[in-house]
Amino acid sequence: MDQIIRHLKNSTHILVASHAKPDGDALGSLIAMGLALDALNKKTTLYNESPIPAVYRFLPSVNRIVRHINCASFDIAVMLDCGNLERIGKAVSAVRQIPVIVNIDHHITNTRFGHFQLIDTSACATAEIICRLIKQMGVPIDKAIATSIYTGILTDTGSFRFSNTNRAAFAICQEMVELGVDPFSIARHVYGTYSLGRIKLLNLALDSIEISSNGKLSIMTLTQDMFDETNTQHEDIDGLINYARRIEDVKVAALILEQQNGKRKSKDSNQFHVSLRTNGSVDVAAIASSFGGGGHSSAAGFSIESTLSDVKSIIFNLAEKW
Ligand code: AMP
Ligand code: MN
Ligand code: MN
Repeated sequence: MDQIIRHLKNSTHILVASHAKPDGDALGSLIAMGLALDALNKKTTLYNESPIPAVYRFLPSVNRIVRHINCASFDIAVMLDCGNLERIGKAVSAVRQIPVIVNIDHHITNTRFGHFQLIDTSACATAEIICRLIKQMGVPIDKAIATSIYTGILTDTGSFRFSNTNRAAFAICQEMVELGVDPFSIARHVYGTYSLGRIKLLNLALDSIEISSNGKLSIMTLTQDMFDETNTQHEDIDGLINYARRIEDVKVAALILEQQNGKRKSKDSNQFHVSLRTNGSVDVAAIASSFGGGGHSSAAGFSIESTLSDVKSIIFNLAEKW
């Protein structure tokens, strides 16, 4: 950690970036780190390739996050909440040219890319690691930094319900509240209201649920047609998989998401993202890794190009062993 801090302090232009299709941890960690580096009078650029989901647009300084970068000007890149470098998206080859890459993450499948790593797979969120780093940097945590850290921990632990919820989650969040965070205000932004389209999408998603013959696996499917029909976007699926996971006797839930920009190579083949969640009895990070993806032992994902029916049968086959 001290080596990383020394490099940050000696650098002139720092790129801070997090994974595409960001969640609350990717954005909260990104902003907290950016604001802490401001306090050290460092020149920083905050990058995420995707649009900011509406529920996270309340975060402080969120408008500083840019979607395009010219990597030539950076002497160091700090990658947050990325299990592998490719998770950043299109900028991956440009980022590889940056002389020093720092990898700060909590995914069990982290590939240990980069020149320096700060990886703690027992951390509840990358925001937990960022909180420790900011303290070590000697930067006082103001309300804006506290709001960003709190949001990262709140969302990555599913409001303190998921298996990654640890003592630090409560300890840090209490500390952030003491520093001025208003839990009700953040909860209202993150979980407050749904568009009518999202409720209609929920209806289609629930209707799509299929169960394996042994009852141990559930599959929810979201096609591009469903998004078009309900006038919704991929950011609207947050949390939907939990309905499939909470079905009695289900050990693993899979959500198959047809990719918006998936290039159709043939009439039927398409690009799909598969999210996996478990009640804790199966290691879904291992399953996701076997398909070239990754994640945590109870929440993981991977991408696959195939037909929808083939993707379903591949996933249903997994359940036969359980
Ligand atoms: P998701 O199902 O996309 O919400 O992802 C669940 C967890 O798995 C998150 O922590 C992701 O960062 C991780 N994950 C999802 N897809 C991939 C992938 N293709 N490669 C590595 N990690 C992934
Ligand atoms: Mn994340
Ligand atoms: Mn995370």
